[in-house]
Amino acid sequence: MKILVVDDNINDRELLFELLNAQGYEVTCASNGVEALEKIRESKPDFVISDIIMPEMDGFGLCRELKRNVETIKIPILLYSSSFTDPEDEKLVMEEGAAAYIRKPFETKPFLEKIREVITEYRAGKISQPMPGLLDEKEYLSLYSRKLMKKLENKVVELENANEKLETALSELETIDRLKDNILANVTHELRTPLTHALGYVELAISETDETKKKEYSRRSRDALLRENEVITHLVEAAYADKGLLKPVFETMNVAQIINETIQALLPKAQAYNIRVSCEVKDKLFAKIDANQIRHVLENLLDNAIKFNRKGGKIEILACREDGMVKVCVTDTGIGIPEEKMIKLFDKMYQVDSDTTRKFGGIGIGLSIAKYIVEAHGGRIWVQSKAGEGSKFTFILPLDGIKAENK
Ligand code: ADP
Repeated sequence: MKILVVDDNINDRELLFELLNAQGYEVTCASNGVEALEKIRESKPDFVISDIIMPEMDGFGLCRELKRNVETIKIPILLYSSSFTDPEDEKLVMEEGAAAYIRKPFETKPFLEKIREVITEYRAGKISQPMPGLLDEKEYLSLYSRKLMKKLENKVVELENANEKLETALSELETIDRLKDNILANVTHELRTPLTHALGYVELAISETDETKKKEYSRRSRDALLRENEVITHLVEAAYADKGLLKPVFETMNVAQIINETIQALLPKAQAYNIRVSCEVKDKLFAKIDANQIRHVLENLLDNAIKFNRKGGKIEILACREDGMVKVCVTDTGIGIPEEKMIKLFDKMYQVDSDTTRKFGGIGIGLSIAKYIVEAHGGRIWVQSKAGEGSKFTFILPLDGIKAENK
């Protein structure tokens, strides 16, 4: 049996060719209605399968031409389309004398079954060929152009939607690109600054003869290197967290003690900005945690509360037990965070405003690591904030880290 496949899309055409060939049919192809009519004249196929929307002559035109020629009127034609999909369209297709209609995208199996069914029915004389010109030319053309207009309108809407999506994606890409540049500049800046300081003080120490000054320069150089080390540690931790390698080692610890140690370590920095730090621990806070990791979380929250505070501001730390969890809140009276930015705050490398952050320093990974650590403990961290008034970061940890350990 000879089948002619007509489709302007080469991929669809070739797929159909292969599928039908594999079924033992002798298949030829054409890429539009005009070419199909030539092939039909040359090779007299037993069956035509055609797409509807094609250049030069579409499926409707091809069907009409077949059905108005006595030599080809009996050749059954199956039309398929992804655009003409409502029942009205199917009606028009059938009225034009098609033997069957299939909506794209079709699945291979039912599609082949449909073809077999149409061929069998056709051979058994079950498919009555409607008379050509069932609709008169004028009526047909007006119906057809109305249909085409509707499809075009739909296509325009589809294109507009696609265009909108593309524009959104493009602007997101531009933002990401800008962010990437900011991050790179920020990380470079954060790595270079302490190194420049350290080098400067080492140079001074080398040429200094006064022993007290020499010592002071060496101390400053060491402090700068410790800051450098801290930035590198953060970057390494972020990479570890990314690979899921930052696993907590659980031990029963007093969270209150870790809070106090962290405050003591950061108090000089707070005092330098004239920021008052108060702390209230309400209950006994023994919990199974990784002390180093939780210290890290606290350091980050407290450091941010100082960094993004105003001179003479306040920081309150409140720790208690609540619903079988340890709850720690760090509240500051700083610049706050605009509501729309809060959702991304715990994302890696996210900084509310890289200019502001540049002024304050930081590479924007502290909170993402804090979130990773708290969640690896089976806990949760969140923020409440009002731009211009201050922020409150809260995290909760299960008293018994076992739950997280067994995850
Ligand atoms: P970094 O401080 O290195 O920029 P973080 O991950 O710790 O990175 O914080 C990410 C961003 O969240 C900060 O750059 C800042 O914009 C915002 N942020 C964090 N803590 C506060 C806070 N207490 N007040 C205002 N903004 C904050």
